[in-house]
Amino acid sequence: MAERMLQFVRLTQQTPDKRPATLRREDFQEIYDRFDPARASEQASRCSQCGVPFCSIHCPLNQHIPDWLKLTAEGRLQEAHEVNAATNTFPEICGRICPQDRLCEGNCVIEKGFDSVTIGAVERYINDTAWEKGWIKPPKPVRELDRSVGIIGAGPAGLAAAERLRSIGWQVHVYDRYDRAGGLMIYGIPGFKLEKEVVTRRTDLFREAGITFHLNVEVGRDVTMAELRERHDAVLIATGVYKARDVALPGAELGGVVPAMEFLTASNRKGLGDEVPDFDSGALNAAGKRVVVIGGGDTAMDCLRTSIRQGAASVTCLYRRDKANMPGSMREVANAEEEGVRFAWLSAPEAFEGADGNVTGVRAVRMHLGLPDATGRQQVEPLPGSSFKEPGDLVIKALGFDPEDLPGMFNEPALDVTRWGTLRVDHRTMMTNLPGVFAAGDIVRGASLVVWAIRDGRDVAAQIAAYAEAKAAVPQAAE
Ligand code: FAD
Ligand code: SF4
Ligand code: SF4
Repeated sequence: MAERMLQFVRLTQQTPDKRPATLRREDFQEIYDRFDPARASEQASRCSQCGVPFCSIHCPLNQHIPDWLKLTAEGRLQEAHEVNAATNTFPEICGRICPQDRLCEGNCVIEKGFDSVTIGAVERYINDTAWEKGWIKPPKPVRELDRSVGIIGAGPAGLAAAERLRSIGWQVHVYDRYDRAGGLMIYGIPGFKLEKEVVTRRTDLFREAGITFHLNVEVGRDVTMAELRERHDAVLIATGVYKARDVALPGAELGGVVPAMEFLTASNRKGLGDEVPDFDSGALNAAGKRVVVIGGGDTAMDCLRTSIRQGAASVTCLYRRDKANMPGSMREVANAEEEGVRFAWLSAPEAFEGADGNVTGVRAVRMHLGLPDATGRQQVEPLPGSSFKEPGDLVIKALGFDPEDLPGMFNEPALDVTRWGTLRVDHRTMMTNLPGVFAAGDIVRGASLVVWAIRDGRDVAAQIAAYAEAKAAVPQAAE
């Protein structure tokens, strides 16, 4: 092993090539190229095969990262794929969009002074190759079971659970209010981070495996929760969080002030070839406009970079803290800066200004960082007399998401929620207070990450299977 691995002393870190900013501003294609086989093998060989791999500990899926890095370094790609796919339902997606700098790679402990192993890029390479070579097969079961699950939500949490349960023979029915499966992977995250074909080839595979999708079906409107509980042995709620956090500022009713998800969904739909009247009319289209995005998270970064690609005249991000305190991934901030986004740090909005019913800009105030609060985070305070106007014809509010009122939506007032509106589950069984009704993903955690949704989906599938086993065992025990 020593010969092949531990090459960090000889080889420097190399990330996949990035398309030049001038080119990528023009389209919605992914910005990173793929490793070629030689570079993937070389970069994987930099791993020092730690006895206690901190990369794995900090991967939400606790994947056997050193194992598949070693197999890749040795050119044993099919085996690398098998080891990787055993712990991840969407490895090529995580390889693209996990914030690796905060997870696996951020905790890679190659000797001090050496850059981390490029784990995410290798994971993507392994699995894109597996797709090309035809190694990825539908998760068809060996035998069918007379057990069915109704899954509400076709995002990564619902789909990860669907794949697990189908592979052991369950009859799996996935209900989603949208017309396509994928959740935020299809209508939230833009194509320049995750091309849509990468998502649809997976959902097509699930269909081939016998998972039934009921699209354009909103639970609470088209079918009741009570009906689903009647129809299925277990129900999983994996509905994500969609209620946009808002700022109660004067002028919020002006035309041209829009929530982030409406803007991103319209753009993704357009890219998928749909008719989008609000895009064509210009209401949700940044072309030729001065765009101001309020917020500093990943959703804000996606709005900024989408606006650039739609041909905005200028794109500015207003964020009330400084760069070091941004919640968004630093990699995405750097990409946005390269593409021409201007950041107005330490700037908080005070009001939307307008003329003739349409927004003309945001009045903002400069902030400064004060003393840390109880959580250790520095508080921000306005600098008196520092108000300024940021001109804008399209203002996008990207301030985060909260859960919708699920007990109300589902007409299930007994469904227990936390004070944040997320669903309360027993953390061992992942079951809500309604017997046989489980929950997973953002609707339990609050807005999080795809990789955590996958983890939850896989875990809840195991809990649902155990619940059904235990239930089936009861009458036998009584006999
Ligand atoms: P979702 O993906 O939200 O899926 C929930 C599904 O439930 C949806 O399809 C919805 O239509 C459906 N649904 C809701 N209510 C009903 C109902 N009543 N009836 C039927 N169906 C219903 N994470 C990353 O790891 N990396 C990133 O780069 C990243 N970028 C992001 C960019 C944006 C703009 C956003 C908004 C999020 C991003 N995230 C990212 C976060 C990530 O997308 C989510 O954490 C993840 O998708 C949550 O998965 P989920 O399955 O819980 O919910
Ligand atoms: Fe890293 Fe995400 Fe892959 Fe885990 S799933 S190894 S965190 S890229
Ligand atoms: Fe390899 Fe880094 Fe993980 Fe150690 S922490 S096993 S060097 S990838």
